Amino acid sequence: MPDGPIIGAIEAGGTKFVLAIGRAYNQIIAQTIIPTTTPDETLSAAISWFHGQSAQYGKISALGISCFGPVELDQSAPKWGYITQTTKPHWSDTDVAPYLGKALGCPVGFDTDVNGAILGEYAHGAAQGCDAIYITVGTGIGAGAIVNGALVHGAAHPEMGHIYPRRHKEDMQFKGICSFHGDCLEGLASGPAIMARWGASLSDLPNNHEAHGIIADYLAQLCITLLALYSPQRIILGGGVMQSDGLLENVKMKVEDYSNGYFAYDKDRYITAPLLGNLSGITGAFELALRAITD
Ligand code: ZN
Repeated sequence: MPDGPIIGAIEAGGTKFVLAIGRAYNQIIAQTIIPTTTPDETLSAAISWFHGQSAQYGKISALGISCFGPVELDQSAPKWGYITQTTKPHWSDTDVAPYLGKALGCPVGFDTDVNGAILGEYAHGAAQGCDAIYITVGTGIGAGAIVNGALVHGAAHPEMGHIYPRRHKEDMQFKGICSFHGDCLEGLASGPAIMARWGASLSDLPNNHEAHGIIADYLAQLCITLLALYSPQRIILGGGVMQSDGLLENVKMKVEDYSNGYFAYDKDRYITAPLLGNLSGITGAFELALRAITD
């Protein structure tokens, strides 16, 4: 095995934490999955797993965490590295990054799950060298952006899943399920919104069901909005709902319709699935750790 620091990586999701150690994203030594229950339980389990790995393979030089949110990313804020006010029970105001960094005695790179995913795709996947955006469509809808190699934060971090799309003409009655906004994009097109409307996941609905066109339309509206705002060279669409057969192609066709020849983008390359599959997030966590070492 080549030399190099031992890196710890966590993809912290609302249902599970993926933990890994290795010398690089593609040189993982050990990996495990623990359920997301309460902060006490889950973070303690993570610490004891990393301690066990450290005892066997050596001290961890840095930890990277791609975390569900919302999270505090302002390095000068007293609660940098915390999960802030989340709808996930027990997890509001939870110290994640400082707590784990202290327990493992190493620097920590910390960012949102979607920023982690776009960083992974930027470093090793479909967005290498590109200004790019990663959109996840699953339990919620979120997106992370990278511009000139820097993750976009701003005052907090973007919440692109909460834009208000124009309502599809065959979908005027549904109120939407976002607890903050009702019929924002997440309220209309996330996995739970599809389930609330049609009683099944998109992939379980027949090919000729109206849901396929409606959901593709809403997601295309986010893509066209992003083309207008950022002119990205890649828009990567991942997450559970995107696994539905034909959805990506339907979204791309809708983007073509909305663009109507106006936006300069390479339609065959710019809107794509993640090259790293479901490993974008953990790959990004490795990169966050490496950036924490060099920062
Ligand atoms: Zn919303």
